[in-house]
Amino acid sequence: MPTLNDALRHFELPRLEARLLLSHVTGLSHAGMVSAGADELPAAQWQAFSQLASRRLAGEPVAYLLGWREFYGREFAVSPAVLIPRPETEHLVEAVLDKVGRKRAANVVDLGTGSGIIACTLALEAPQWQLSAVDLSPAALAVAQGNAANLGAAVLFYQGSWLTPLPESMRFDAIVSNPPYIERHDHHLAEGDVRFEPRMALTDEHDGLACLREIAATAPARLLPGGWLLVEHGYDQGAACRELFAAAGLQQVATLPDLAGNDRVTLGNKP
Ligand code: GLN
Repeated sequence: MPTLNDALRHFELPRLEARLLLSHVTGLSHAGMVSAGADELPAAQWQAFSQLASRRLAGEPVAYLLGWREFYGREFAVSPAVLIPRPETEHLVEAVLDKVGRKRAANVVDLGTGSGIIACTLALEAPQWQLSAVDLSPAALAVAQGNAANLGAAVLFYQGSWLTPLPESMRFDAIVSNPPYIERHDHHLAEGDVRFEPRMALTDEHDGLACLREIAATAPARLLPGGWLLVEHGYDQGAACRELFAAAGLQQVATLPDLAGNDRVTLGNKP
């Protein structure tokens, strides 16, 4: 039988990915795997590891194989029903916390919540806020609800398109969204991990701005005076988003970069 160290070297996988998959199969931490490196791997674990490694080599994302991904310091369950959390989205979370202020009561909604990372993170980072979260996909909502329950995040969930399932009288201190913003012919949709993600979470099947347009056109009416609209978007969509926000009557419109220096988040304030 191969040892743990043999298993780590057996497949042509990057070492970090092999470690994550082997840790998942053995239940050992990275430190635990180092000290048990020369031990034989039980046959069932070798088989489970081999299967995961083969699937990874065939392209399946590590996050789907493990069933989780870290976001803002917490583990979120993910499945092929939801987009895999991206580190860029942490900028969106930071911007909402910064603009609204975590030390007061606020009513905040996350549109197209997917795995629920934005809504759950905000609910846990700003316990005085009331979070709502909307998604069109019942399968995604089930993942998000599971995450909220696991993490103890108090979030109200609604199934439907953007703002439509929310009670008509609800008004918000912030409306936040990471909508599908990839143009339908973008080559990224056919590459890497993205191939395995839900297409409806990635592309609007149009020019990439269709959902951003709809959100910019409908959200301001649902904001309280002084409320903020904040969206994540593609690196080349900053100017278009600022125009949409300004045309919708929002003020203090600005775009924030991600850590790579790319335009990533646009925000605006309702006067
Ligand atoms: N940031 C993601 C990507 O580049 C897209 C996420 C989205 O469309 N909301 O793959």
